[in-house]
Amino acid sequence: MIAFTAKTLYTPTTTIANPVVLVEDGTIVSLETRDAGELPASVNSTDFKDCIIAPGFIDIHVHGSAGYDVMQSDQSARPGFEKFLAQHGVTSYCATTVAEPLDATLKAVARSADAIEHARDETARARPIGIHLEGPFLSHARRGVHPAANLLLPTLDVFEKLWQAARGQVRVMTIAPELDGATEVIAEAARRGVCVSLGHSDANLESARRGVAAGARHATHTFNAMRPLDHRDPSILAEILTNDNLTADVIADGFHVAPSMVDLLVRSKGVSNTVLITDAISAAGMPDGRYRLGSFEVELQGGKCVVEGRLAGSALTMDRAVRNLIKFVNVGLQEALRGATVNPARIVGANGKGILERGADADFAILTASGEVRATVINGILMQ
Ligand SMILES: [Zn+2]
Repeated sequence: MIAFTAKTLYTPTTTIANPVVLVEDGTIVSLETRDAGELPASVNSTDFKDCIIAPGFIDIHVHGSAGYDVMQSDQSARPGFEKFLAQHGVTSYCATTVAEPLDATLKAVARSADAIEHARDETARARPIGIHLEGPFLSHARRGVHPAANLLLPTLDVFEKLWQAARGQVRVMTIAPELDGATEVIAEAARRGVCVSLGHSDANLESARRGVAAGARHATHTFNAMRPLDHRDPSILAEILTNDNLTADVIADGFHVAPSMVDLLVRSKGVSNTVLITDAISAAGMPDGRYRLGSFEVELQGGKCVVEGRLAGSALTMDRAVRNLIKFVNVGLQEALRGATVNPARIVGANGKGILERGADADFAILTASGEVRATVINGILMQ
């Protein structure tokens, strides 16, 4: 049994002052305030002093960081990537694909499935908990930097191949609902428990609504790679902003979406339906230079990842996304944390994660009052 103590704990939906969290075999066995009684002498305890214990962050859209790219065949840099994530408070992530030729994508998702199935309990690194298929079912008109030649129309046959290669580990799939065949694939993916997410889409309002009726329930990097909001052509964005059954994620790096539009999103969705993602690529955490994203190179320059003048993923980290949300929107740390913890856990069905309660996994981000990461605990193991 290990005890973790601090000044404050955010579950994050409630607050515990002077918390004591007891952990056994990577699971929270109790959490209460210190005033409730003395710790048994046999318990090993770690005191985080003035810090806050929050749930470990969950990034459902990350392509890589620290020189590693999810699509690359050489997996030797993956531990370094997962350590980098943990240094930024992330304890779980969805390995996110980029549109490549189908064979390459099938191999990449199979490698991610291996990583998910073999994630070790005893290592203090972020764990892959699922795969996010960003492509190949994306709109040519809103493909961003996903290569046009690698985009496919949705079919049950291609979806089944991806599903088999991923051994059922697909947690999120971004799809443009206006594509021929999208409705059937959305319905089938939703039936299998995948969080179907609208994105890279040129859909008008009607097509977006058809996608939602078929089972889509989330939106990928809202505002980016989407038909814009227009008062006479309300588009997919009007559906995302006004349908309370949809959750939505956003890249809060200050480059992808103007701060006031992040504010608009949170005002529309509320803090309980807004999800923070990084969309980070291998360049995150690296000096300016050229880095890989799938089959092409991206230039990192002053915090922006660019290909031929287009933004191509980000160099954002989850802790900075949380701090940016506080800056861009009128919310405090505890509310901002929802976007990185309980909300993403809920939408991908990550049971035992994203919220601190008895029986939950002992995954913590240890934060200062301003949201800087001081330490990370994964499965009860401290990483400083
Ligand atoms: Zn992405």
